[in-house]
Amino acid sequence: MKEYRIAYLGNDSEVRLGLEGALERSGMKFVQVPGDYQGMEKVAGWNADVVLWDLDNGQPPYEELRKAGLDKQPVVVVAGQDNLEGAVSSLSTGAADFMFKPIREEPLPRVIAALNAGVKQRRLDYYGRVIEDANSQLKSILNNMADPAYIVSPQFQILWMNRAAEEIFGEGQMGGACHHIFYDRTEPCEVCQKTKGPARWRAMLKNGKNYRFVSAMVRDQKGEVERVAVGTDITQDEEVSKIHKTFIANVSHDLRTPLAAIDQYVNILLEGLAGELTEDQRNYVDVIRRSSFRLHSLVENLIDANKILSGDFKLKMEVVSIKDILDIVLPKLESQAADKGLTIQVQVPEDLPPVYADKARVAQVVANVAGNSIKFTEQGMMQVRAGFMPRDEGRIIVSVEDTGIGIPREDLGKIFELFYRVDKDQVYVEEGAGLGLSISREIVRAHGGTLWAESMEGMGSAFHFSIPAYRGVATGQTVSAPPQGGYYSPY
Ligand code: ADP
Repeated sequence: MKEYRIAYLGNDSEVRLGLEGALERSGMKFVQVPGDYQGMEKVAGWNADVVLWDLDNGQPPYEELRKAGLDKQPVVVVAGQDNLEGAVSSLSTGAADFMFKPIREEPLPRVIAALNAGVKQRRLDYYGRVIEDANSQLKSILNNMADPAYIVSPQFQILWMNRAAEEIFGEGQMGGACHHIFYDRTEPCEVCQKTKGPARWRAMLKNGKNYRFVSAMVRDQKGEVERVAVGTDITQDEEVSKIHKTFIANVSHDLRTPLAAIDQYVNILLEGLAGELTEDQRNYVDVIRRSSFRLHSLVENLIDANKILSGDFKLKMEVVSIKDILDIVLPKLESQAADKGLTIQVQVPEDLPPVYADKARVAQVVANVAGNSIKFTEQGMMQVRAGFMPRDEGRIIVSVEDTGIGIPREDLGKIFELFYRVDKDQVYVEEGAGLGLSISREIVRAHGGTLWAESMEGMGSAFHFSIPAYRGVATGQTVSAPPQGGYYSPY
């Protein structure tokens, strides 16, 4: 156990005797020194934990105490009975407590209280320094980035900007309101008003360029929560994706009409309305029917992808258990897995907290990821697990692992891109359009989560996605998905 050291800076021998007896009986070390600078230095060298300052020396000289090295120790003043005013005013200048002479009362509880205050203060000082170091590291990283970054207070004031942001908005904007400086608005923007946690949004800044912003909440030394935001220039990407979207919209709508005609005539043929079909003819028409069905689902997927990627979709939020979603989706994949001799293993803890999510959309993600696992696995198994991770106030992680063909390292980062499919000659390429993962990633992002993959070619793949756990704040039944692929628009 630590041996505490208590120093009395004063010349009252009665006080010394009273303190010495009581403190040493309790196993504490005690020393008395004169209340001058030399005494202070001595006590600092002795590593005192609490300083008892006799008010006969005058009010505690904090500056001198600090210079002598006594800047962390709590100071308890010892005052004469007739000096109540001095004792009370010492509290307002920084003393932790006071006690009256003669020391008749047991001094220990007061000293222990001061010690506890000292320990707490030291801890706070330490955490303060850690936060300060982390903040200055963060600022130096952000300062050297080519993209704009800034920090805003909970009152929407700009506290700091990096050089790239100053190049856009000019120097000397600290203290100004961010909505005013960034967007020439008088009211705080939707992102600051509506999100108390991490956020993602897109915005056009004063330089006419479009940026994608992500922000996180950090605490400063005083415990105030600030928003740190970093932007990425996406002007060019947006141009390309606009062309993509228009193209997809036109093609998919143009395909719907001829497909409807094919379906109609296939049905006429199959129903025998154009004369009885031979068995061969029926088989041929059936191939046309199945191909047309595949085209239909491709077109529907394209339209869905376009909607999701342009943020034009609503999430029907509800409190829902991941287990319920898995129970709906996985049985539908069982026959496909059984045809290939694959086993499906599911592990979900009983006490898994629910999520606040759009059930159908999350089911779509599970169906896509688990469907892929079965599609790209020829033998072995698929394992689906769900668990709780206490990060960011709690997340549910769903993992789908398979023993399939795996994904080459050079493709792993690209499979989430629109239309991307791994194209390897030696591998049997299953049907698909390369849309599922990009749609799934946007759905997960719109829920405030992340979808990512790990894989080893020839060994298998693992896809994981996270969704914030439900924290008891159901805000409404239907919310607009953050527009533009999981991003808020500030206005
Ligand atoms: P697709 O409709 O082609 O499956 P996705 O976007 O769902 O489109 O997937 C993109 C590509 O990622 C797939 O074509 C495939 O090459 C690869 N892929 C996805 N999941 C897996 C998996 N579990 N194992 C191996 N490759 C996978």
